[in-house]
Amino acid sequence: MSVSCHQIRGNFMTSRRILTFAGILAALLAFALPATGARAADKLKLVATVSMIGDAVTAIAGDRAEITTLMGEGVDPHLYRQTQSDIAAMVRADAVFWNGLYLEAQLEEFLEKLAGRKPVYAIGEAVPDNERIASITYTDRYDPHIWMTPELWHYAVKAARDSLIELDPEGADIYKTNTEAYLNEMKELATFARRSLETVPQDKRVLVTAHDAFGYFGRTYDFEVVGIQGLSTESEAGLQRVDEIVSLIVDRNIRAIFVETSVPERNVRALIEGAAARGHAVVVGGQLFSDAMGSAGTYTGTYIGMIDSNVTVITNALGGTTPVDGLNGKLVGS
Ligand SMILES: [Zn+2]
Repeated sequence: MSVSCHQIRGNFMTSRRILTFAGILAALLAFALPATGARAADKLKLVATVSMIGDAVTAIAGDRAEITTLMGEGVDPHLYRQTQSDIAAMVRADAVFWNGLYLEAQLEEFLEKLAGRKPVYAIGEAVPDNERIASITYTDRYDPHIWMTPELWHYAVKAARDSLIELDPEGADIYKTNTEAYLNEMKELATFARRSLETVPQDKRVLVTAHDAFGYFGRTYDFEVVGIQGLSTESEAGLQRVDEIVSLIVDRNIRAIFVETSVPERNVRALIEGAAARGHAVVVGGQLFSDAMGSAGTYTGTYIGMIDSNVTVITNALGGTTPVDGLNGKLVGS
């Protein structure tokens, strides 16, 4: 079992993802820039792709690093393409942290090139193979949504810690202490999640969401999960898929389904209309944070808040009981 940080694997990039000419030009120009001023104030300059990684790296690094997170509230990492300012930030950074497992599909080619020049850590790939869910569509690919349970995300958090120690051994003690505190919070969250979700009656444990982001969640907490779109939002759901799920909603008497902050609601609305046409009322049970945290500076704009919100919303919408203000009493109005 390997929990070490993986640098980007170099063997599976294909020509499928082609940067635009302008993008290549911008990247080349950025590469050509001298690395002046890269260590302002002696702090490490780090870039994180998704906000969940930004949250972990920020917590672990404390004030020894300045972290730039590329994707904020509501941004879909499956579709996200780097901007010129992202390229500039990554080229100037001392290291880049990303999830990998094909989450940031459009960034992969750029990150692979960058990995030849500086540390680029795919911390999601620290999850051991035997704990990953394999993609049913592609061989050698896995479900990338490993942050959805603290039980799995801890691998990535520890990988982030080890990467920081590798980058900056002088800060090792601080990184270890900060990681310990962060993992302790995650442990509390994991206990809360289990206790809350256990209250959902067995026959109500079907989680219908906009895309297949909840596979690990379902496996960990014993829910059947149904995503309208697949593991990635890159391919659109067909009418047949929508019809199949409408039938499932009607047949299983499902009363609540969920929208996601990083995916348009139209497919979920189509299910509600499809069920209504068959005389079955189903409502939006709430909004889930699947691939992005809430807005920066709010409680749901933290990893703990994001998962707390998902657990609380799902539990209460599907017939379980848990306080509506969540684990830390911070959810209402956040
Ligand atoms: Zn996703």
